[in-house]
Amino acid sequence: MSASQNSDVRTLLVKIFGKDRPGITAGLFDTLAAYAVDVVDIEQVVSRGRLVLCALVTAPSAAGADEGELRATVHSWAESMKLQAEIISGTGDNRPRGLGRSHVTVLGHPLTAESTAAIAARITETGGNIDRIFRLAKYPVTAVEFAVSGAAPEALRTALATRAAAIGVDVAVVSAGLHRRAQRLVVMDVDSTLIQDEVIELFAAHAGCEDQVAEVTAAAMRGELDFEQSLHARVALLAGLDASVVDKVRAEVRLTPGARTLIRTLKRLGFQVGVVSGGFTQVTDDLRERLGLDFASANTLEIVDGKLTGRVTGEIVDRAGKAKLLRRFAAEAGVPLAQTVAIGDGANDLDMLNAAGLGVAFNAKPVVREAAHTAVNVPFLDAVLYLLGITREEVEAADAAEAARSGEAGPTGSGPAPDGGR
Ligand SMILES: [Mg+2]
Repeated sequence: MSASQNSDVRTLLVKIFGKDRPGITAGLFDTLAAYAVDVVDIEQVVSRGRLVLCALVTAPSAAGADEGELRATVHSWAESMKLQAEIISGTGDNRPRGLGRSHVTVLGHPLTAESTAAIAARITETGGNIDRIFRLAKYPVTAVEFAVSGAAPEALRTALATRAAAIGVDVAVVSAGLHRRAQRLVVMDVDSTLIQDEVIELFAAHAGCEDQVAEVTAAAMRGELDFEQSLHARVALLAGLDASVVDKVRAEVRLTPGARTLIRTLKRLGFQVGVVSGGFTQVTDDLRERLGLDFASANTLEIVDGKLTGRVTGEIVDRAGKAKLLRRFAAEAGVPLAQTVAIGDGANDLDMLNAAGLGVAFNAKPVVREAAHTAVNVPFLDAVLYLLGITREEVEAADAAEAARSGEAGPTGSGPAPDGGR
């Protein structure tokens, strides 16, 4: 154990604040170096050009090195730099952080002072201490992360979920640890998650049976039909439709804003990405191709002699089927289930969301939102990146680096595909 780790050793907290400029860190440590002190901890924050630098160092112990002299030298250096300095004596390292560590991500659009106060108060009421706060993103939403200790992540999640819904912000609580960085498979629902549409409705519009399809959907929502019954009833209404409609529907599908950014960034980070859908392979296979997805599974519309038969072939992908597919994709990707992320909006997605290491309800119905680990209610799919601790800056830096690389490759090099500006 080194001297600085010994809890009895005298330490000094040197806090510097003022206008940021180059050379402050070098200048401070250069000044401290004359007293042969050791560094125990350093933290620095710069916000709108104002800097706060905290250095926890051992007190000078060697003969001839005097604490009073160190204080005077640091103060006079700070003055010469037009900075303020505060030096606080104590012993040992920072107080150990409490057990129970979480990352609490708060998404607001906008994020108000009132909602921030409410979240912070709830963290305190749950026994948590906020050790660190930083901004993950300012666009398309304001996202901040609180590093919290002293409260069990599950208790914190429950306490914050109800408050978040009431004040209109999204809060995700993820327990801290290396596993957060190790999540390596993301599986998404398609209709109203990856895309803005419900694919069956796009087909129904071509068959002129939107109203009948909507009636069956409503009956299913009332619990009068289960998913499989409602799927068969709705697909039956498409019987006789020309197969050329498949291409039209593929062209009509609108990706959710942020979908390309999410997938592109996850792929760069080495994630595998898949989709599961109660919709149709005629659309999901096309999405797999266009978006470079690793996995896609859905129901298949039967086509005979160039016409839809009104039947589906193969095993039905329903609520249980989606969870089964998540497990299968995880096994194929060699990723433990605890390291998977599932995203969905419907009751059909609940088993999958619960089976995943992190289940994200995306602009979901209340019943789904309440049952999932976390909810995103802003209409941007890339907000999921912030729940994984990835900052907007990192996303943009990666985009810029790739654009520069494809620029070097010549005019034929293709940069990231446009994504509604993202
Ligand atoms: Mg859906």
